[in-house]
Amino acid sequence: MAKEKAVEIPELIVVRELANLMEVSPIDVIKELMNAGVMVNINQQIDYDTAAIIAEEMGFEPRSVAPPEEEVTVAEEVRPVKEQFYAEDRPEDLIARPPVVTMLGHVDHGKTSILDAIRRTNVWAGEAGGITQRIGAYQVEVDARKITFIDTPGHEAFTAMRARGAQVTDIAVLVVAADDGVMPQTREAISHARAAGVPILVAINKMDLASANAERAKRQLSDEGLVVEDWGGDVLCVEVSATQRRGLRDLLDSILVLAEFLDITANPHREAIGTVIEARLDRRRGVVATLLVRNGTLRQGDALLIDDVCGRVRAMFDFRGQEVKEGPPSMPVEVLGLSGVPVAGDTFRVVQDERTARDLAEERAREKEQRSVGRPRSLVSLEDLFQQMRAGEAKELRIVLKADVQGSLEPVTNSLQRLGTDEPKVNILHQGTGHIGESDVMLAAASRAIVIGFNVEPDRAARNLAEAEGVDIRTYDLIYRVIEDVDKALKGLLEPVYREGILGHAEARAIFHVSRRGNVAGCYVTDGQVVRNGLARVKRGESVLYEGRVASLRRFTEDVTEVRSGYECGIGLEGFGDFEEGDVIEIYRMEQVSR
Ligand code: GDP
Repeated sequence: MAKEKAVEIPELIVVRELANLMEVSPIDVIKELMNAGVMVNINQQIDYDTAAIIAEEMGFEPRSVAPPEEEVTVAEEVRPVKEQFYAEDRPEDLIARPPVVTMLGHVDHGKTSILDAIRRTNVWAGEAGGITQRIGAYQVEVDARKITFIDTPGHEAFTAMRARGAQVTDIAVLVVAADDGVMPQTREAISHARAAGVPILVAINKMDLASANAERAKRQLSDEGLVVEDWGGDVLCVEVSATQRRGLRDLLDSILVLAEFLDITANPHREAIGTVIEARLDRRRGVVATLLVRNGTLRQGDALLIDDVCGRVRAMFDFRGQEVKEGPPSMPVEVLGLSGVPVAGDTFRVVQDERTARDLAEERAREKEQRSVGRPRSLVSLEDLFQQMRAGEAKELRIVLKADVQGSLEPVTNSLQRLGTDEPKVNILHQGTGHIGESDVMLAAASRAIVIGFNVEPDRAARNLAEAEGVDIRTYDLIYRVIEDVDKALKGLLEPVYREGILGHAEARAIFHVSRRGNVAGCYVTDGQVVRNGLARVKRGESVLYEGRVASLRRFTEDVTEVRSGYECGIGLEGFGDFEEGDVIEIYRMEQVSR
């Protein structure tokens, strides 16, 4: 019989180092430890006896040694970027917190069904079936350990949150239907998760179907660079059926294994900080907000500040609607007692007292009012990026690339990649075929990237979003032009050329006051069209009173994206309310002039 391989184990060893010694995946070591009933994460130490048992289980012969003089340094792996929430804590205050999980994947592959199946079968056993969930996230408990699921699946929502600066997800579960395999949105989802630095776990769904072919899906995933474990990679993969509720426990266990591996922690002793998941105005209860506590513990009575909204936690409920006194890290809670409706994706924090919260909120509201708003919030253009590169601020040029067919995608990708070998590098976050859609623009906005279209155009929604978010979309029909522009940008030779394009005019005929939004002008569109998020100026006679942006556009009570000439509408402008009857509102957009 072959002799077992010896490993020399010190008195105490960090899980990661033990895996290194044995040259096995740390995930396997954590799994073995879990089997043995030991819950530790990758950065925690275990003693010799435990390590020896695990080593033996894994086919090694453990030997004890004195601790080495020098620590082995191990390469940093990708970690979720959440320094803003966890930077200040001392390591000794940190404890494991539930991972926050989002489902991503192609439409109809079963994201919602899996979320439902888990909720029904797993939410605090005993209550199964009878839960009426009210908020956009829920928690399940597996062997006394919790997992938080965000209830809005899909990479659009995921990246929309990111674009607002909120990255709540620790782990993305990529749902792939076993009959369909990898589809366009599966690829998109992979790119979105990668751009966010969020680790991916694969769930192959619909295994009950006769046409299910898990092996094919795995092969396709490996073509995308996601090599699952049984293919020799390190991506965890489980096979499930949402409709038959099979494999769900495996899925939950895998999430927990990955969570251990990622060492997901928080400090429950500090004041709470976190993210607004959703918020609305309820006629009876006032402002109702769902908050995800990221770090610290939220308590009833805490004073809250969310951008220019303040308040006090008057009442707090868990996702089942039961009143709770405390919200520990990773817990989604519904909170009453805010002064206004905060925006999803905003950060909330607990401040000293209500008075401080109010003062700070008022200060922010004033700042907002004064800020000049002629320009999109986060302009991301090729030229801008170049400016940053010249200043040494940007190390790479990020690109979302869309082309008409696979046959043109490849040569463009290859030439672009060849351009950026030194710093600044070219980093293609996502590439795909088909028109440029909202999701492409959202990814670019969240990642400070530009969108390049080759023989394809953005659709209307994408164009509007790009304008609102200030994302640069460039379309080409000649490869050498793409290469030339990107090359120039990398080398610093691009200067922007913009031209104003007038879209239309509207005349103010009545002024209304709308609570929380200030004054809105009831208008008649005299020519062209008015678009939401368009740039706007207000003219009174010869003088221009305001330069800014359309903040709201309504027909009767409906929010609309555009209103054409001959129709009436209500127009609200960002930071302006001094309308008078007869004012002319000119709507325009800045168009880039192609060279
Ligand atoms: P989503 O768009 O990814 O959220 O997909 P849904 O959860 O809405 O599911 C899309 C369709 O697939 C629905 O008709 C589901 O009933 C069906 N479906 C979901 N999971 C399974 C499964 O495990 N097996 C089978 N046979 N059908 C499923």
